[in-house]
Amino acid sequence: MSDKLMSDLKILITEEEIKNKIKSLAKDVENVFEKDEDIYVICVLKGSVMFCADFVKQFNHNIQMEFIRISSYGNETKSTNNLQAIDLTLPNLNNKNVLIVEDIIDTGLTARFLTDMFKIKHQPKKLVFVSLLNKKCARQVNIEPDFYGFEIEDKFVVGYGLDYKGYFRNLPYIAYFPQ
Ligand code: 5GP
Repeated sequence: MSDKLMSDLKILITEEEIKNKIKSLAKDVENVFEKDEDIYVICVLKGSVMFCADFVKQFNHNIQMEFIRISSYGNETKSTNNLQAIDLTLPNLNNKNVLIVEDIIDTGLTARFLTDMFKIKHQPKKLVFVSLLNKKCARQVNIEPDFYGFEIEDKFVVGYGLDYKGYFRNLPYIAYFPQ
C-alpha cells in the first residue's frame, strides 16, 4: 500500500484538459516534420507511458516507437540528481528523425542527458523534444523542451503515468498532495 492516500490528492490538470492539450500539441509537433518523413518516437519509461500512448494516436505521421527506461526520483518526491539509465537499447538512429516524448522536465538533468546522448551516439537528422509538463522554476541546467503541454509550479505531481513510490500512475488526471 502507498503511504499517501488517493483521497488526499488535489487535481491540478483534469483529464479533459490533458486530452485537449495533447490534440493541439500533436498538431504543433507534426508541423516540424515533412509529411513523408519517417519518425522514431522515443517513449521515456515509465513516466511517459500514458502521455506517449495518447500523443501518438493524435500524431499524423509514419512513426515507429521505441522505449527506453530511465529513473531519477527513486522513491523520493524530490529529484535525487542521480540518473539511472536502466535500458537504453535502441536501433541505429543515425540520420533518422527522432522525437523524444517525456512526462515532465524538472531539474532538466534527464533532458540534458538524453539530448546529449542522442546527439553524440546517434547523430539523428532531426531531434525534437516534447514534454507534457514543464517545471521551469526547478531547473538546474539550462535546457528547454522544443514543445511542452503545461507549465507547472515546483510541486510534486502524480497521475497520468507519474508515480509516487510506484503508485498513482493509473490516474487519468495530474494531481498533487497539498502540504
Ligand atoms: P529531471 O531530470 O528533469 O529532474 O526529472 C525528470 C524525471 O523526474 C521525470 O521524467 C520524472 O520521472 C521525474 N519527476 C520530475 N518531477 C516529478 C514530479 O513532480 N512527480 C513525479 N512523479 N515524477 C517527477
